Amino acid sequence: MSNFVDEFVAGVEAKNPAQPEFIQAVREVVDSLAIVLEKHPEYRSAKVLERIVEPERVIMFRVPWMDDNGEVQVQRGFRIEFNSAIGPYKGGLRFHPSVNLGILKFLAFEQVFKNSLTTLPMGGGKGGSDFNPKGKSDAEVMRFCQSFMTELCKHIGPNTDVPAGDIGVGGREIGFLFGQYKRIRNEFTGVLTGKGLNWGGSLIRPEATGYGAVYFACEMLAANSKDISGMTCLVSGSGNVAQYTCEKLLELGARPVTLSDSGGFIHDPEGITTEKLEWVMDLKNVRRGRIKEYADTFKSATYTSIDPTLDHNPLWSVPADCAFPSATQNEINGKDAQNLISNGCQLVSEGANMPTTPDGVDVYLKNKILYGPGKAANAGGVSVSGLEMSQNSLRLSWTREEVDERLKGIMKAIHTSCYDAANEYGTPGNYVNGANIAGFLKVANAMLDQGVV
Ligand code: NDP
Repeated sequence: MSNFVDEFVAGVEAKNPAQPEFIQAVREVVDSLAIVLEKHPEYRSAKVLERIVEPERVIMFRVPWMDDNGEVQVQRGFRIEFNSAIGPYKGGLRFHPSVNLGILKFLAFEQVFKNSLTTLPMGGGKGGSDFNPKGKSDAEVMRFCQSFMTELCKHIGPNTDVPAGDIGVGGREIGFLFGQYKRIRNEFTGVLTGKGLNWGGSLIRPEATGYGAVYFACEMLAANSKDISGMTCLVSGSGNVAQYTCEKLLELGARPVTLSDSGGFIHDPEGITTEKLEWVMDLKNVRRGRIKEYADTFKSATYTSIDPTLDHNPLWSVPADCAFPSATQNEINGKDAQNLISNGCQLVSEGANMPTTPDGVDVYLKNKILYGPGKAANAGGVSVSGLEMSQNSLRLSWTREEVDERLKGIMKAIHTSCYDAANEYGTPGNYVNGANIAGFLKVANAMLDQGVV
């Protein structure tokens, strides 16, 4: 079977040159599925795997816009509609200069399995642009979003494809995108999630990914008769996911001590308290400043800038019990993973998508720490997006408590299905296999039912 995996991945690589992140994501899934394919030859004869790695549709378009100096700028826009076997395409939009086809294909591919795990009827998709919102005025961001949506609106809809936010796309961007969709299509409809509360958004949607990553960690700990209260936690990033991860950790009595951005990280051994977190939220969401300023303001903290010549990131050497990577893909390599474990870390719950490299994942698995991979641990965001779609269809709004309870229930169900699938296929405690197998089975069975499409 390992021959089959190698040959299969080599074939995908030959067809998709220069897309290393996509190949990395495919290999991880196919590695986990080898046991399933052996047990169920019907998936092989129907070429389910060959079909599932091929997006149903890739849309790529020009996004011209005018900056504040009157100069014309040209960006690239994408939407990857990867798999709609179990529901309309669903997945975020990322605006970051590093965005390219391969990165969005990896994210859309992961999204297929993640959405399947949520128990909600959502297919997988992802999109975005190489536009960099950092340092742009609100007017520039609005003109870009309007141009982006002018093309994207031809391909999406509440029953077709429902985008949300991701890196660089928060409430401000979703507002501009929604406004332009409504203007062109003359429809007030649930075509995007992450909307403002007074125009169709759901309570808890901004919090959901971070809260969910902590709930998933709590489930892993509970399965081992442990509790997160009193634990010291490393958090990377300082955007949406990182902020609400910290908020939930504080609520449950844990102690977050780090945050980062692309410039470097802060370490506050006294703990990032509720008051300090409020300050970070204002810094990042209102003033749009750099995390370095935290250490200038709070004397208990130190700031370490990113050193590109280092083969590891010292953030992951800070002694702690748990780690919540919440910035970006491949932010923890093999050495970082080893440093985490050497310094006492016993749990990693991934708020970000694929934040650990394959050799880092091997280190977690060899050392048998509790490891919740992103497609399970960060599924809280898309789950509440699914709940936002339900509320939009019903034309009503659930309370904060109701949405939070549903989120908690979904994260518990995701944990159970990963845990059970790992057991059933002979790798107990391996949430990587559990998530890939449980996510795959639902989509694969739907694909079998629907014939060769
Ligand atoms: P935000 O844009 O709100 O925040 C991203 C944070 O990560 C910022 O602090 C940013 O720093 C940092 N960051 C981004 N790129 C890099 C990089 N190349 N190196 C170092 N730091 C970096 O995004 P989100 O919080 O929404 O997303 C974070 C992660 O969570 C992503 O992997 C995303 O795919 C994933 N995710 C998000 C969901 C959501 O609901 N928002 C749902 C599921 C997963 P800087 O400002 O300096 O760029």
